[in-house]
Amino acid sequence: VIDLGLPSESTDTTCAYCGVGCSFHAETKGATVVRMTPNQESLSNHGHSCVKGRFAWSYATSRDRVTKPMLRKNIEDPWKEVSWQEAIQYVASEFLRIREKHGRYSIGAVSSSRCTNEEDYIVQKLVRAVFRNNNIDTCARVCHSPTGYGLKKAFGESAGTNPFDSVDQANLIFVVGANPTDGHPVFGSRMKQRLRAGAKLIVADPRRIDLVRNPHIQADLYLPLRPGTNVALLNALAHVILEEKLENREYIEARCDLSAYEKWRAFILRPENSPEAMAPVTGVPAETIRAAARLYATTKPAAIYYGLGVTEHSQGSTGVMCLANLGMLTGNVGVEGAGVNPLRGQNNVQGSCDMGSFPHELPGYRHVSDQTTRTSFERAWEVEIDPEPGYRITNMLSAAAIGEFKGLYMHGEDLVQSDPDASHVIEGLRNMELVVLHDIFLNESSRYAHVFLPGCSFLEKDGTFTNAERRIQLVRQVMPPLCGKQEWEVMQEIAQAMGYPMHYHHASEIMDEVARLTPTFSGVSFQKLAQLGSIQWPCNDRVPEGTPVLHQEQFVRGKGFFALTGYVATQEKVSERFPLLLTTGRILFHYNVGTQTRRTANSTWSKEDLLEIHPSDAEERGIRDGDKTELRSRKGSAVMHCIVTERVAPGTVYATFHFPENRTNVLTTENSDWATNCPEYKVTAVQVSRVFEP
Ligand code: SF4
Repeated sequence: VIDLGLPSESTDTTCAYCGVGCSFHAETKGATVVRMTPNQESLSNHGHSCVKGRFAWSYATSRDRVTKPMLRKNIEDPWKEVSWQEAIQYVASEFLRIREKHGRYSIGAVSSSRCTNEEDYIVQKLVRAVFRNNNIDTCARVCHSPTGYGLKKAFGESAGTNPFDSVDQANLIFVVGANPTDGHPVFGSRMKQRLRAGAKLIVADPRRIDLVRNPHIQADLYLPLRPGTNVALLNALAHVILEEKLENREYIEARCDLSAYEKWRAFILRPENSPEAMAPVTGVPAETIRAAARLYATTKPAAIYYGLGVTEHSQGSTGVMCLANLGMLTGNVGVEGAGVNPLRGQNNVQGSCDMGSFPHELPGYRHVSDQTTRTSFERAWEVEIDPEPGYRITNMLSAAAIGEFKGLYMHGEDLVQSDPDASHVIEGLRNMELVVLHDIFLNESSRYAHVFLPGCSFLEKDGTFTNAERRIQLVRQVMPPLCGKQEWEVMQEIAQAMGYPMHYHHASEIMDEVARLTPTFSGVSFQKLAQLGSIQWPCNDRVPEGTPVLHQEQFVRGKGFFALTGYVATQEKVSERFPLLLTTGRILFHYNVGTQTRRTANSTWSKEDLLEIHPSDAEERGIRDGDKTELRSRKGSAVMHCIVTERVAPGTVYATFHFPENRTNVLTTENSDWATNCPEYKVTAVQVSRVFEP
């Protein structure tokens, strides 16, 4: 449904899909949304939109929305609708019972990067102040946690460096492991505009993405690396820059930690990091690596944009630090038109991390072991905060499997479909005594839940989202919550029922508390957001209108840090039995696990996940374009139709992961990033065979 008649009212709000954070006028007739029109004034999208934000909002009123709380004592039983009061009392009393019986570390929560900052803040507060531990994690764990780790280590701040507008000044754009035209369409178009105006383009990706294939763009250099070899490639680029003395020595001496730099320099100049040594590892010819290094180092300003093709690896954090090293080496950080810029997949992945949704960090990325930070929260919350980091998602599930973790509150998250190694997730959930799912639809995880608390779509709530460029924007309620309660109200009532006083009256009061307790947000309020339209954090007395470019005078950590980035091959290897490497990604029409977009007109354009396979690999297996294929990995099997295409190189196959029936994530392994446990979705050894249909 695109247009249901003439609207009578318009409310400005923010798209709930990708990290571009487009602003829209939600136009309504009565309580019904009839149209979403992009906001011309918005600095995120300048009046542009994509097929998701513009047309795919009708999931909010989909007929299968759950609007009443539901309960069942055993997961085999049918759901029974109950009142809010009964559901909240049950959840509170069960969490209290489990805590009493199994200890305070036996319960925890997972929050969502699709929910508002205020909701994410309240979930982590519920865990820290009421559950009395740090067992809080977010779905950012499985996408951009390496960004948080890597950028903080190098620059001192867990966020991208430049605003989207900065791309207009870039003379070189280096896209690594990202597919902006499908994943971040409005910014992808912006990037294409800049490329048509003459900026140079280097793309490093195992798949020939649109920016490589598009006849109007034509990347200056395409580096078709093997999945899992980012670090090898990026180290080789740095090797050439140093060997050919193309580094920005003046910048490094003025801005960076020289002792760390000298150690890193000596390491990178070792022969094993040369393009010639890395060409057989990466599959990219040495001369192409050399040409890319020269082009990146000599064209200024040069901007790096990267995505999950960097982070979702066993060396995800190392890959992010490699990019940070390249940026500092060439003096491209803290500069307009340059920077190291993560393209965040989800609308509020930046915000959920900012709000303290990790088990080791309080809001504002401050470690739970830091006494001063803890004291400020303890005074405000009137509780003692545990100084020990809590469980990550994977730890919660592993602890559940051995009977040490018993109760989970899942907010806006479908662990079974979105996390790797689905059987491990299911085993963990099955072993728990209480699984509470707070969401807008039943999903794969709800099969294992005891309580379902109905949530609100973005059209039903007030709050804020923070996009990939650290831009905080208001989300405004366009229609009343179908379930009758805002999500933060439900959490507040659970906290109260567990004996903890929590008394907010509106989401703005939650942001006021965030601002009081978090120096980087101290200048943020709903009132100011309404006046200015948006604010890029940090925003405080020093920078009252926010900070578009980070690290301009000096790095947040003081001196920029060159971390050693040795390449370690992934444990996931091809073999005679599993000879192809599967990598995964998104398409334009769908968003993540498809819960929202599959319920909209977008599903008429794309109805299933598809496998891409190179003609030579297809021929070897007797597979033709459009055939049904079976993929098998060491973890499981999946069935999907295929496209025979040269978009992928021989030896590599590619699939999307938007449809639960296609089971792409059943294939992925338990390998994860060494620093953050972000799963290695991008490298899975598989066999592919044709399924003969009658
Ligand atoms: Fe903008 Fe992303 Fe929403 Fe598309 S999905 S409208 S690019 S925020």
